[in-house]
Amino acid sequence: MLICPNCGLDLVRQENSLKCAKGHSFDIASAGYCNLLLGSKPGDFIGDSKEMVMARRQFLDTAAYEPLRSRLCQLLVSEAPAAKANVLDAGCGEGYYTGALAKALEESGRDFTMIGADISKSATAYAAKRDKLSQYITANSYKLPVKDASADIILSLFAPAPAGEFSRILAPGGRVIMAVPGMEHLWELKEAIYDEPYKNDEDKHSLEGFKLVRREKLSYKASIHGKSNVQALFSMTPYIHRTGKESMERLRAIEDIELTLSFVLLCFEREI
Ligand SMILES: [Zn+2]
Repeated sequence: MLICPNCGLDLVRQENSLKCAKGHSFDIASAGYCNLLLGSKPGDFIGDSKEMVMARRQFLDTAAYEPLRSRLCQLLVSEAPAAKANVLDAGCGEGYYTGALAKALEESGRDFTMIGADISKSATAYAAKRDKLSQYITANSYKLPVKDASADIILSLFAPAPAGEFSRILAPGGRVIMAVPGMEHLWELKEAIYDEPYKNDEDKHSLEGFKLVRREKLSYKASIHGKSNVQALFSMTPYIHRTGKESMERLRAIEDIELTLSFVLLCFEREI
């Protein structure tokens, strides 16, 4: 499924690197991921930092998102082709979903390829260390080094969803599975920190050139314990970028909270 980001020819694994027929070569790091971002130098900051990755993983390990992850695994197994499935998790972060999704495909007895792509090197390194069933690459979701019409399923879980790239990469009959926050997601936390909390617009998500073939909602309550977990949960949301000082202080004072987690799962297929 992978192609050379320089020339677009197929990449083939040779020992510890991926190489194309023109001789462009990309090292597979000892952690197991391959950096396919062009022009990036050691020390560049792109995407989530190591600290953000660690905080998010610490929170995800509390199992609050486990019901969502299980449902996504079921959905993938039911939507993927029965014999051989090529799957791309675009914007995979530190692989919390990717690893479980690959395991679910393995348990279903299928032959499969799972590629996790994220722009953050820290995130792909972390993912690759923990999950040996998937192949992780550092790449930009807006310019993915993935072959035309090669993916049966593209996952876009709380990540950017570039319709043009997805359309190019998706195989005929393929599907995009998207997860987005539901209307009431984190409502109790928003009430606790904002003067005027607002609900998410869960219906704004569409994908140009695609039609929605399935939509389901998953909501449940979870108890979050400890300031660091409350803060890690909040840091995973886009609200972190538009929250004032006073609200951040209120957030930092929260020790325990029972709150609603709410998600919408969308399944798209390409319009002919
Ligand atoms: Zn090349």
